[in-house]
Amino acid sequence: MTLTPQQHAAAAREAGHVAYQHCERCGARTAYLRVVCPVCGSTDLTFHHSAGRGVVYSTTTLHSREGARDVSLVDLDEGVRVMGTVVGVDPDAVRIGAAVQGRLDDGGDEPRVVFTLEADG
Ligand SMILES: [Zn+2]
Repeated sequence: MTLTPQQHAAAAREAGHVAYQHCERCGARTAYLRVVCPVCGSTDLTFHHSAGRGVVYSTTTLHSREGARDVSLVDLDEGVRVMGTVVGVDPDAVRIGAAVQGRLDDGGDEPRVVFTLEADG
């Protein structure tokens, strides 16, 4: 049985996993759902769950009427860069290079990736 990327994404969401696609032809990886590889054009894409571990690549604090929240780009161990929100700390306390653990949070209107800071060391 072959699932569509959307079905794969739905399954990953149910399991609370951060997901990515891997091109079996050129090895490119993307966090976004594709039908063809953005690098080589192959349609031989397989779907994987990330372990969720990564490092903050960039971080910013968004201020809105709901308050301040973090928006970070995180480089996952699998080599995929994803956007998410670091929770559990003051948004201004998130540092580039910090080790984080991510999961998919399906509690809101839109599923989103949330990260928590890993303990030092
Ligand atoms: Zn490719």
